[in-house]
Amino acid sequence: MPEQKLLFTPGPLSTTSTVKRAMLRDVGSRDAEFLAVVREIRQELLAVGGVREPEYTAIPLQGSGTFAVEAMLGTAVPREGLLLVAVNGAYGRRMVQIAERLRISCEAVEYPENQPVEVERLSQVLTSGQHFTHLACVHCETTTGLLNPIEDLGRLRDQFGFGFLVDAMSSFGGIPLNVAAARIDFLVSSANKCLQGVPGFGFALARREALEGCAGYARSFSLDLLAQWRGLETDGQFRFTPPTHALLAFRQALRELADEGGVPARYARYAANQQELVRGMRALGFKTYLEDQVQGPIITSFLYPPSPAFDFERFYGGLGQRGFVIYPGKLSQAAAFRMGTIGNLGVAEIRALLAAVRAVLTEMGVPVPVGGRAGMPKEIA
Ligand SMILES: *Cc1c(COP(=O)(O)O)cnc(C)c1O
Repeated sequence: MPEQKLLFTPGPLSTTSTVKRAMLRDVGSRDAEFLAVVREIRQELLAVGGVREPEYTAIPLQGSGTFAVEAMLGTAVPREGLLLVAVNGAYGRRMVQIAERLRISCEAVEYPENQPVEVERLSQVLTSGQHFTHLACVHCETTTGLLNPIEDLGRLRDQFGFGFLVDAMSSFGGIPLNVAAARIDFLVSSANKCLQGVPGFGFALARREALEGCAGYARSFSLDLLAQWRGLETDGQFRFTPPTHALLAFRQALRELADEGGVPARYARYAANQQELVRGMRALGFKTYLEDQVQGPIITSFLYPPSPAFDFERFYGGLGQRGFVIYPGKLSQAAAFRMGTIGNLGVAEIRALLAAVRAVLTEMGVPVPVGGRAGMPKEIA
């Protein structure tokens, strides 16, 4: 079994050896060198979002991505606030669950999992009589790989004046998004998705004015973005033990993003990966869950093939033995699995995965269409 598997998942994902090496070092959390790392990271995150101080500020926060989502909802919405969550997948639903747990008044507007959030219906809900103070939406619904029209929803903010909260966990840094142009007040993401760092923290990009208006709102002592920001602004430090190693790795990852050519270049690589994957999987007889026009480049859901010989656990295990990690499905309606196309992966790795898929299908006795080699170079097909 290969020692280092390739991860075709939505995170944690395959990182470069230089990113991994950058964390083989102990640094003190109050050390001047480390504080400079944190400063550089905060500045670079704003640049990735196409924004700058003083209009926006970047706030790293310990924990996985969900902690950042919870911190955003818990910090931004006042006691008397009313949150509307646009839901078309598990991560939208998770925001509703978080709001309920935090006792934030909340309503969900639900869409089918294979369709983007639709602006027309959302504006009807917004004019229905209740005054929603905040709207939350997921950018890339990692449940399916679908992209929601964040910029279009941002235009509703001008009309209705809500605070706009975006979970861009699996898209930030991999899909161009200008945070200011999309009228976003708070956006959250994490280190270990398109920015290709290792897990350990998430972060928010916050409109300063919106953030400063949140005094006294936070429902949690530690998941408080305003307090975290004040700490960083006061002495440059995290309030509590920072994930120092993950931050060292992340600074390297951000430099590698810049070296690659920034977000447009990364987007182009992910899109090429995803197109190669879909082409090859279709040639092997698979169908995608989403229509191509709503599919994003991050992760793709494939329906189980109709053959009775197909068994997902065997499929997953067979790929794992060959050094490829894929992801199970999370759909409420259809039997599907997912393959991510983000991380330190290129078309060569996608082709190697396709060759392994073919081998595992053959091993299981699942028929592969004639011509199913399409897209794979001879040496691995
Ligand atoms: C991954 C992800 C999360 C949660 O991240 P964790 O790090 O697993 O807590 C939230 N929202 C979206 C859209 C994601 O893709």
